[in-house]
Parts: sequence; C-alpha cells; structure tokens
Amino acid sequence: MYIDVLLELKNKNIDQTFTYKVPDNLKKEIMIGKRVKVPFNKRILEGFILNIKDTYEGNFNILEIEQVVDEEVILTQELLDMAYFIKESTLSSLSSAIAIMLPKGLKASNKTNINKKYQVFLKLNYPYLDCLAKCQNEMQKKIIIYINEEVVAFKKEANLISSSAVKTLIKKDIISEEKSEEYRLKNKEIKKEEKKVLTKDQQQVYEQIIASLDKHQKFLLHGVTGSGKTEVYMQVIEKVLEKNASALVLVPEISLTPQFVNNFASRFGSLIAVLHSGLSDGEKYDEWRKIKRNEAKVVIGTRSSIFAPLVNLGIIIIDEEHSDSYKQEAMPRYNAIDVAEYRSEKLNIPLVLGSATPSLEKRARASKNLYTYLTLPKRVNQRPLPTSTIVDMTKEIKKGNFILSEKLKLEIESAVSRQEQVILFLNRRGYSTTISCSSCGFTYKCPHCEITLTYHKLKNTLRCHYCGYTIFKPDKCPNCHDELNYYGMGTEKLEAVLQKEYPDLKILRMDADTTKNKNGYEKIFEKFKNHEYDILVGTQMVSKGLDFANVSVVGIINADATLNIPDFRSGERTFDLLDQTSGRAGRKDTLGNVIIQTFNPDNYILKCVANHDYDKFYNYEMNIRRKLKYPPFYYLVSLKILAKDYEEAKEEATKVANYLHKKLDKTSIILGPTTSNMFKINNIYRFQVIIKYRFDNYLKDTLKELDKIYLLNKKVRLEIDLNPLNI
Ligand code: ADP
Ligand code: ZN
Repeated sequence: MYIDVLLELKNKNIDQTFTYKVPDNLKKEIMIGKRVKVPFNKRILEGFILNIKDTYEGNFNILEIEQVVDEEVILTQELLDMAYFIKESTLSSLSSAIAIMLPKGLKASNKTNINKKYQVFLKLNYPYLDCLAKCQNEMQKKIIIYINEEVVAFKKEANLISSSAVKTLIKKDIISEEKSEEYRLKNKEIKKEEKKVLTKDQQQVYEQIIASLDKHQKFLLHGVTGSGKTEVYMQVIEKVLEKNASALVLVPEISLTPQFVNNFASRFGSLIAVLHSGLSDGEKYDEWRKIKRNEAKVVIGTRSSIFAPLVNLGIIIIDEEHSDSYKQEAMPRYNAIDVAEYRSEKLNIPLVLGSATPSLEKRARASKNLYTYLTLPKRVNQRPLPTSTIVDMTKEIKKGNFILSEKLKLEIESAVSRQEQVILFLNRRGYSTTISCSSCGFTYKCPHCEITLTYHKLKNTLRCHYCGYTIFKPDKCPNCHDELNYYGMGTEKLEAVLQKEYPDLKILRMDADTTKNKNGYEKIFEKFKNHEYDILVGTQMVSKGLDFANVSVVGIINADATLNIPDFRSGERTFDLLDQTSGRAGRKDTLGNVIIQTFNPDNYILKCVANHDYDKFYNYEMNIRRKLKYPPFYYLVSLKILAKDYEEAKEEATKVANYLHKKLDKTSIILGPTTSNMFKINNIYRFQVIIKYRFDNYLKDTLKELDKIYLLNKKVRLEIDLNPLNI
C-alpha cells in the first residue's frame, strides 16, 4: 500500500505531494484525510493523506511512513472537495485552502501544541457502604459521602477538602479517577425566548424557504432594516433541526453582532457553536470538534466558518450578503458565498442570502431567476422607516457651521430633550487626517506607504492606517519650523467638537481605537444600550446590526467620504453603508430621523438613500455598470505585480499585460498596467492589470501559466484575484 501525502513545506503557495510506503502494521489505520508523520530530508514532517494506491511506479527508493497521527479523519471528503474547489476557482494552492479550513490544533504541522482538555472525575470502585467500611478515618469517609452524593464530582473539587485523603483513597483502590473531555468555551446561560408569531410577510418568506428544505435552491432575501430577517432565519432553522439536520449561519463580524448571536443563543441554547477570530486556538479546536461530533447543530461564524464540519448540514444562511468581509483578500482569495453555493449544491440543500441592501451582482442574478427573490419590504409592526433629510454643507459653511449643520444640531437637541439617543457616523478615525505646514507645505506621509499620516490627539501621535507606522507629532514643521495646519476630521476630533458644543451631554466613541481591548466593543455597546450616554460617535462599526430601541436620530457627518473613493463600487458601498446606518434610527417606539450632510446634495445615490429607494439606486447603478462594462455585466480579474524595485515592478507589469494581450480572447478587455490605488505599501511598489471579460476560454489556462512563472520568481510577486471586491 502506498499513499500520497501533502506536506506543508515553507511555501504554502506551492503544493508538494510525496509518495510513501505504508508498513503492514499501519495499513488498517490508513484513510484519506488523516494526518501521518513521514521522514523528509532527515526530519519528520506531518502531512495529510490525499490518495491511497496499490502500486508505485517511481524508480527511486521509497520511504515508509512513521506513524498515523489521527484516529478520526480530519479532512472529510466534503472538506477536501471544498479545498479542491477553491484551488480550481481561485488559483490557490490546496495547502493554503486546507490551512484556512482547520483550527490550528488540527493542521499538519509539528509545531502546534494544542491538546484536549480534561476534567478528572472521581468514582467509587465498590458499592457505597463497602467503600465507607474500607475507610480509615473521618476525612476519607467524608470524601466517599461527598462523591456518592455528587457534592464533589471532580477531583479538583474534592482536592479542596483534602487532597491527601483523595490520594490515599485512590492508592488504596477504593475510588478511581476517570477522565472526561472538557470544552474550553462554556455556553453562556441565556434566558430562553419563545419564538414570535410571524407577520404575514415573514410567513410567506418562511414558507417558501421551508418548501425547499430537501433540495438545492438559492434564495435572495431582501428585507429592509428591522424587517425581521433574523426571526425568519431562526424559525427556518427550527424546522431544519426537526428534520435532524444542522444549520450554518454566516455573519460579517461576530463582535459587531452581539444581538444577533444572543438572539440565537436564547432560541437554541447549547446547540450553538460560535466561530470567530476572537477565540483562542484551544477554544477553536474544541468548537470545531464539538461541531464534527454533532454536538453543535447551529453554527454561527464569520467567513471561514463556511468550512465548519457540520454533520448532516441542512441549510446555509448568509446574513448581510453584500458585506465585503466574505471575500478574503489574501491567499487563498476565496469568497465564502461562492463556496456556499458550491457546498449547498453538492449537499442538495437550500442557500439563503439575506440583506437590506443586496449586492448588485446577487440582485441581478435574482432578476434572471438564478436566485429566488424574497422580500420583506416593511419593518415589523408597521414601524415606519426613518425620514431622511439631505443637508447642503456648502451653505452651512457660509453660515459658519463647519462640522455640525443647523438642522443636525436642532435634531440632536430635541432628541436629547425627549430623553432619546443619537448616533453620529463618520467614516474616519483619528483626529485630523492630514497635517501640513502653513509655510512650506510640508506634509507628513508614511515613509513606507506614501499616504498621509493621521493625527491621533490623545496619544499625540501621527499614524499610518495601512502599516501602523507611528511617530510622535512635533510642535512645529520639521522643515521650516513654522506652524502646522490640521485638515480633515476623524472621530476623535468629532467627539471633541461635540463635547465642546454640548458640555452637559455624555458622548461615547466607537472605532478601532476605542475597541482594541478585549470586549471593548461589548462594553461600549452595553453602556450605550443602558442609556448611560446620549450620543454615540463612530466609524462604520455603528452601521452594523445595532438595534437600540431608544435611538431616534442618526447623523451622517460626511456622506462624501465613501463616495469619493476611486473604485467602481464606491456608489454601491455608499448606498449600503448609509442605508444600513440610517436603519439604526427609530427601530422601536421612537420615530427615526436621519440627517445626511454632504457637499453634493444633488448626488443621485444620496437621494436614493434619503428615499430608501433601493430599486431606483439599483437601476441607476446598473446603467452605469452596463455602460462602463463592470460587474455584473462583465467579470473582473485583478493582477497585481509587486516588487521592492519600482522599475522592476513596472517592467514586469508591462510584460504581464503583453502576455495577456497575446493569449486572451479578443473580446476580453485588458486595462493597464497602472499603479494601484495604494501604489506603495510597506516599501513594496504595486502595479496592476485588470481584465474584464464575459466569456473567455483561454482565461484560466493563461492565468495558471502566469501564476506558475511568477511562483518561482523571488523578486517580483504576482497576485491574481478573480472577481475582486476592491480594485
Ligand atoms: P432585521 O434582521 O431584518 O434587521 P430583526 O430580525 O433584527 O430585523 O428584527 C427587528 C426587531 O423586530 C427585533 O427587535 C425583533 O425581535 C422584532 N421582531 C421580528 N419579528 C417579529 C415578529 N414577528 N413579531 C414581533 N417582533 C418581531
Ligand atoms: Zn505605512
């Protein structure tokens, strides 16, 4: 018997499979997807078994494996299929795909040191009275009584009474220890909540999904903010559980959706497992095995949870489908939604994508019936959507209102006087976004990334938001010693401005700087929820799933910030972000008011946001995409050419473009090379070539060829991203 073993060597981007012989005594343990230890270059390495065969046709001496590591298969056929799917669809290596699927403790590597955690139980070896009779003193008797009455079950607890008595009893064989595995994460005790009676709209959506539980069907659930999508998900999942199947729910970011997780926990209790990057390696390892053992049947997780090894998976639900976070930007550059489509089709189960602002791509597919389109057009209980007002900041500035318009101030004041709360959104953290000298024009830029440094007042530092480069802010221009000017505003400054304007109000800030510490987000969240503060100032963190009953006013401080980002999706992103943020207002009993401050009051997208008119936005944006040949009308591939040397990067980028011109179908459009939007990050120069195509039979092979050429190039790197979200 011979096996092909995938070894994880230095370069994860190149797959290296080697054949080994299996000695007779290990044959019965061999299964595809288990790990084995094998000799390699005088070392012992771990790798996964990918293939088993009877014969071997090489002519050099073949080595034998040392050991089979796993009792159970780690990489099930389902996981392996997904890994091959990623390899083929994103041009990544199998190793990199497998690496993201597994928790650290189960990866093929000698370095990981994660073990199962055990609780040690105590049990009586004889009937109770016999045990008592064997005791030699009162303390020993006490321990026996306690074990019998289950006052102490664990050795730890018994040791607190008398560890020496416990030891003696074990030595005398009167009691014994038994190990049982303990999971590191304990489910929080949460009050169980009954399910709600669905509204008519919800009921219709629910029934359509339920009707397809035994087949593969893809749904796009378009439900406005507060329309009760979560309740529908939960009731659908109840049905799935009744059929003895399990459910997988993806969310963009767990830490930003505590209410979502709590809702699920209060409905499904200990059947839940939550997977996210905040877990320790040990916790991840435990949760993963809990899922594989079918002890957790409802899994909520972020992007990579799409690979969770659920048993008898019955449905996949992806909430906030439009979110960028489902796409991984680094190798392997997969999109969890594509994997979900593949997995659900293979398992013959439904896939539900939900959003208040569906991505153009998915909405377009729904209009071609590739997705079944379901809608929840109204908020639960007929609560109206908030009214929105667009404020022209050009006029405000003439009146001397640089940051807060008259209208916004009025709304803040009247909300607070009614004991209601306010959320203000500004998509920039820090204090000032640019600092430059008033005389010589000197501007602080990151020496590694060529972008302006952001001023953080509290720590008096200038920081690069790309690479983290940080320096202390000098008082004067380092060039000519004149005064420094501060331009642009981040959340830190907004907070300060507000505090000055409203010294009596309590203001809280939520951004990457204030939520860095463990549970930082939750603490801020709780404080605001308990109405300890009047105003919450924040970056896009405040736009996600917050459901505060008492918020009646939402202010968008600078709606132009995202509109002006040079990316063809900036309009779509602006609509998503502002619509979601507006959705935070007036969710319970209060009427919502949204103030949108902008220098482009006639911007079509902002008008669509103000009118909550997704359809209008969709038609408008689709028109632009059609004209400019962007998705969903064309597919995109981005090729990034990176090198330390500017000239070299440029030269190779030209070669790449020329190669594509030669090889690709004549209908495909090749743009570039140009410098990337961020043309230097961490001292690496970045060039870019874009391919737009509809059908191109030569594409895959050409890209694979290019990939192969550059994999071995030590000085120039080529990053190929199929269907990128950012270009
Ligand atoms: P979405 O996910 O669409 O933004 P949610 O599921 O968070 O909306 O629902 C908004 C609010 O309405 C929540 O507080 C939820 O508990 C409540 N809700 C949802 N469905 C119902 C229902 N059928 N009856 C009463 N309240 C509901
Ligand atoms: Zn930098």
